[in-house]
Amino acid sequence: MSAHLLSKITGMLRTFLSGNPPPICYLCAMRTVIYPGSFDPLTNGHLDVVQRAAKLFDRVIVAVALNEGKHPLFSQAERLELVRDCVKHLPNVEADAFDGLLVNYVEQRSAQAIVRGLRAVSDFEFEFQLALMNRKLNERIETIFMMPKDTYTFLSSRIVKEIARLGGDVGQFVPPQVKAALTARLAVAAV
Ligand code: ADP
Repeated sequence: MSAHLLSKITGMLRTFLSGNPPPICYLCAMRTVIYPGSFDPLTNGHLDVVQRAAKLFDRVIVAVALNEGKHPLFSQAERLELVRDCVKHLPNVEADAFDGLLVNYVEQRSAQAIVRGLRAVSDFEFEFQLALMNRKLNERIETIFMMPKDTYTFLSSRIVKEIARLGGDVGQFVPPQVKAALTARLAVAAV
């Protein structure tokens, strides 16, 4: 259990034992957001969104989708491991994997919202359609959008993979663990 969560629970218990329980259950009031995506692989742009969401919500779950249709470079387990490693310093952020309908996963994790990143107008149409469809499927779940720092608006997993494939240095676009994983994967692919 993270230190953040532990201190929150300790605070709740203290209030409860003081004889002044709050009108609503604290645990029910805990705000959880799911950040779903392929993360093939995680980039600094994704991390920027995670950090922003972590300031607004009590708990952020970065949920790695199976997405086999996209023919990912890394398996779901590998992508999950990289995300887990890259968010381990953030106390209220965890990594998980899921398959199937996103709204079902959101319910299963007792979350209130989905966060997605918006880089440019080009993202908007698809994201808008996705958000409205998810609302049709489950009215209770809100989708929120976050814009990354402007220097990350041009960044995508696809472009990072392309640069790495062509021998470019992706060190400024991804965390060091991801750069190492890309180098290792592409070296094997080249053999
Ligand atoms: P998906 O296959 O679901 O689009 P991605 O891993 O490509 O998964 O992206 C997950 C989410 O992160 C999407 O909402 C996408 O728009 C957002 N995203 C991707 N790259 C960036 C970035 N550089 N800055 C902010 N958001 C981003």
